[in-house]
Amino acid sequence: MTGQRRVIARVLSAARDHPDVEEVYRRSNRVDARISLSTVYRTIKLFEANGFLERHNFGASRGRYEETARRHHDHLIDIESGRVIEFRNEEIERLQERVARDLGFSLVGHKLELYGVPIKRPRK
Ligand SMILES: [Zn+2]
Repeated sequence: MTGQRRVIARVLSAARDHPDVEEVYRRSNRVDARISLSTVYRTIKLFEANGFLERHNFGASRGRYEETARRHHDHLIDIESGRVIEFRNEEIERLQERVARDLGFSLVGHKLELYGVPIKRPRK
């Protein structure tokens, strides 16, 4: 792996906020100013093809990325800020398996995205 690629890989590994390509570029470029946007694009495509990265669309046009190796989780997307909250709910996991089984399938994976706006609570 080239030095630039290694920087991009490290930025992606450290990210917990599912950054898009531009954000990965900003962070990588801060570490090594020679890293260009097109290098980030190419590297992300490569990592995606290798299965190292998972791409999410989250209802928006731009892809957002996270490392594949992490534990399974689902996402709640705040449509006002674009913030992504990770969660895992055993009840939902079981329910999905039951739905698949009732339809005659053994479940091998799923992708669940919830979209919401923060509930404004009155100030105390
Ligand atoms: Zn995630």
